[in-house]
Amino acid sequence: RDDVVIIGGGLAGSEAAWQAANRGAKVTLYEMRPKEMTKAHKTGGLAELVCSNSLGSADPLNAPGILKEEMRRLGSLIITSAEQARVPAGSALAVDRDQFSLKITQALESHPNVRILHEEITEIPTDCLCIIATGPLTSDKLSASIRAVTQSHHLYFFDAISPIIDAESINMDIVFAASRYDKGGADYLNCPMDEAQYNTFYDALMAAEKVQPKEFEKTPYFEACIPIEVMAERGRQTMLFGPLKPVGLEDPRTGRRPTAVIQLRTENVHRTCYNMVGFQTKLTYPEQKRVFRMIPGLEQAEFLRYGSLHRNTFINSPQLLLNTLQFKSRGTLFFAGQLVGVEGYTESAAMGGFAGINAARALTGLPLVTPPATTAHGCLVGHVASSDPKHFQPMNTNYGLFPPLAQPTRDKEKKRQLIAQRAREDFERWMTQSALS
Ligand code: FAD
Repeated sequence: RDDVVIIGGGLAGSEAAWQAANRGAKVTLYEMRPKEMTKAHKTGGLAELVCSNSLGSADPLNAPGILKEEMRRLGSLIITSAEQARVPAGSALAVDRDQFSLKITQALESHPNVRILHEEITEIPTDCLCIIATGPLTSDKLSASIRAVTQSHHLYFFDAISPIIDAESINMDIVFAASRYDKGGADYLNCPMDEAQYNTFYDALMAAEKVQPKEFEKTPYFEACIPIEVMAERGRQTMLFGPLKPVGLEDPRTGRRPTAVIQLRTENVHRTCYNMVGFQTKLTYPEQKRVFRMIPGLEQAEFLRYGSLHRNTFINSPQLLLNTLQFKSRGTLFFAGQLVGVEGYTESAAMGGFAGINAARALTGLPLVTPPATTAHGCLVGHVASSDPKHFQPMNTNYGLFPPLAQPTRDKEKKRQLIAQRAREDFERWMTQSALS
């Protein structure tokens, strides 16, 4: 075997391979696709994005932006590739998903320290340094092996994905291009609804047929990813304060703010397809077609992909992992990515990179490192390793995870600036001290 074995060539595994290989480790990266597919992936490419094509905000004053900046400082392959494959989406880092995956695949294929094998691993290896990064859709056999090694049951929950629409089928006489409050130009397409249209749509959504296998009945949704119809069940007005909120938008045809707006975000540089922002759903496919075509401008919409609902998997990390992402009872075993209980492409990649760095250090006898709690990496690691194991749930990067400032301020904007600045400085210092630059 090579020095480090990484299982799973998704967001986390690809970044882990890159970081470990750049630090001199000989890496074998196992990815089971395309021989064995998951229920959500479509290709054999590395780091395939299974749902939205957005890696979240790139604003350096937002928590996800701070995380991206830190990853950039570490020479992240995921962030560099995302920037090269970027498509317009306001301040969000959205990508052409095929270009993104291709760039990552090519970079790792041509890396002299990386060997990629397209095989499913069914047992956790015991004879090498190993990083498990098989993500929310870990294959069943490996899931059983993880369950055995961690002596625990997996924790599961379900993610829902939103439909993608063919751009040519959108009625541009009704739909208008604009970003909320003109931020980011005209990156989004907006489908405006008046009150009567909204009420008709709401009633149809509530009455529509949903896929409801028994298993999903007690589904604990990740709040940021709840299906649109579940949000609708919370009250007639709820969607108007969520993805359908009309604030900051004016319909150029009427000169007024509509009652509701459905936003569409481009999926690729060519703007040939758009996803329905916030429309993750478990409506049956025919019902998606019928109900979503009631949206003004989408009367003839061609759905390139329907929304659906998927399983997620994560271990009880606070019980099982150190703050180096090492398995407590086996120092040669690391977990990374969504499996450790972070949520999101960027967060998963960040936790992959961090595991890759520590695995390479373990190999050469260097002390393992953990990022300061005041940085975005440190916040995620803190969540993963130090949360209450009884109530552990996946988390994305957000300001709530950052420790309070030594000198608190009531000015929200100022607070963000100070937290971002502290993160930047502490991350730099940590990189220098740990010889990571
Ligand atoms: P993945 O990217 O899934 O990579 C894991 C890899 O391991 C896969 O390539 C898989 O084929 C491989 N693998 C699995 N088992 C084995 C095995 N036994 N042997 C070898 N290889 C194996 N996040 C967002 O930020 N935005 C979204 O819109 C979003 N939508 C999602 C929709 C769905 C349906 C799902 C399931 C997840 C979604 N997520 C989303 C979460 C997203 O999956 C993660 O954020 C991210 O992809 C996780 O990265 P990862 O590397 O941990 O897992």
